[in-house]
Amino acid sequence: MSFSRRDALKFSGAAAAALAVSGCGASAEAKPSKSAETVAPAAPATKTHMAPLPEAKGKRIVVVGGGWSGLSFAKEVKKLAPNAEVVMVEARFEFMSCPLSNLWMVGAIDLEFLTHDYLAAARNNNYTFFNATAYGADKKNKTLHTSNGDIKYDYLVLAPGIDYDYSGWTNGDLVLERRLRTEYPAGFKPGSEHITLRNKVLDFEEGNFILTVPAGNYRCLPAPYERACLIADYFKREGIKGKVILLDENAGITIKKKGFSSAFEKLYGDYLEYHPSSKIETFDLDAKTIETEFGDKFEFADAAFYPHVRGAQIVEDLGLAKDRLNKLEGNIDFFTNEAVGAENKDIFIIGDSRPMGFSKSGNTSNAEGKLVAKGVAARVLGKAAPKWSSPLTICYSAISVDPVHAISVNAQYEFNKEKGAFGFAHASTNEDWSGASGLKTGKGLFEWAKGMYRDMFA
Ligand SMILES: Cc1cc2nc3c(=O)[nH]c(=O)nc-3n(C[C@H](O)[C@H](O)[C@H](O)COP(=O)(O)OP(=O)(O)OC[C@H]3O[C@@H](n4cnc5c(N)ncnc54)[C@H](O)[C@@H]3O)c2cc1C
Repeated sequence: MSFSRRDALKFSGAAAAALAVSGCGASAEAKPSKSAETVAPAAPATKTHMAPLPEAKGKRIVVVGGGWSGLSFAKEVKKLAPNAEVVMVEARFEFMSCPLSNLWMVGAIDLEFLTHDYLAAARNNNYTFFNATAYGADKKNKTLHTSNGDIKYDYLVLAPGIDYDYSGWTNGDLVLERRLRTEYPAGFKPGSEHITLRNKVLDFEEGNFILTVPAGNYRCLPAPYERACLIADYFKREGIKGKVILLDENAGITIKKKGFSSAFEKLYGDYLEYHPSSKIETFDLDAKTIETEFGDKFEFADAAFYPHVRGAQIVEDLGLAKDRLNKLEGNIDFFTNEAVGAENKDIFIIGDSRPMGFSKSGNTSNAEGKLVAKGVAARVLGKAAPKWSSPLTICYSAISVDPVHAISVNAQYEFNKEKGAFGFAHASTNEDWSGASGLKTGKGLFEWAKGMYRDMFA
């Protein structure tokens, strides 16, 4: 039996995954390992107990979610209000980055580049990492309920990211939803979804590989197009008789259009088909076919279906979400991120669960976390609230792997009073993926990621 480069890639990925998630070099065989998707034990059914945390010496700020917004918030607020106690409640055991995960999926980088240590972040920045799942709150008594006990807070900051909303495809058919989640995960939440998707790509033999782009302000506008490019690039490099079929619910590419469309055409003409205005109407997962609302039918050998996104479940569970039409995102003041309503005073929502039309991206969440930290620290210290300023969106997308060429966008936001919504204050893009320019942006992509990980964990 021959051992191909694809086998080697797969093996190294699986081994790296086992290593990264178990935190030691022990063999991953037989005994169950904690996967990156593993969450803390389920919530107690009956009575609750206090979390094993020492009494807070100063005001206690509890952050739910250790993603891009929660990590930057926790570090910054502790820096600005050092006498406050900061506790980060996070369901995962280790951090896995979504940015650059598309490169990992096609074997271009190691998992070690994406995974990071929550305990190190907490030690380095003098806050507490509390591994548990938050499932409710007694807002009157300022107490958060978690799977590892109740935590009293003075300020509560929710940074829980997104959840998926499959209802537009399934119309309440939970069997279909379970099959879509399990067999064809979107790969827009880190952990098992990413590992499944990576194995699908590395195992792919031939035929159509379907990817989708949802409508609305979904997580990371360019990421589905980047993923399509990189999987097509992999098929091309490995001589696989496969084609990426990218079905976009939107009327056209939603961001960096010039860069992506020219790459689709010039680099991946034989390996990638792009279909705008293509909303899937019916799935036949046994026959492996789908049909769009305009009656186009596609067969597929494999797929990753990305549904609409919504605010994370905990936001709804705490009674802090807008309605379904507004995607159950946080009902907050646009300029302070504080939840609306007197009963929700001192509760803030940051990151991809926010309702503002900012890019749902890591850089935006990181910048916003720091801005909101200033506001919360000011309140802790009894100072005046700082003036609002815009978060910054910087987002690189890889177009090819060997070598890495990339394109980028850089944007900030301003509030349009007439529309009652945010729009770009300025936005500039670099969409030339070819030659020296694309290569330089490719290097910038890695420098950006290293800088962000340093910023959140060191
Ligand atoms: C494939 C892909 C590529 C991307 N590429 C880029 C890119 O190049 N650049 C970029 O800037 N952005 C990129 N993004 C987007 C970026 O990853 C997200 O926008 C960012 O992670 C949002 O940060 P967040 O803090 O809101 O949520 P997350 O980072 O998702 O963090 C939320 C955290 O909350 C935890 N949590 C949720 N509920 C609970 C609970 N009840 N109790 C305890 N913990 C809870 C979760 O476990 C999670 O760790 C990409 C995303 C994907 C999927």
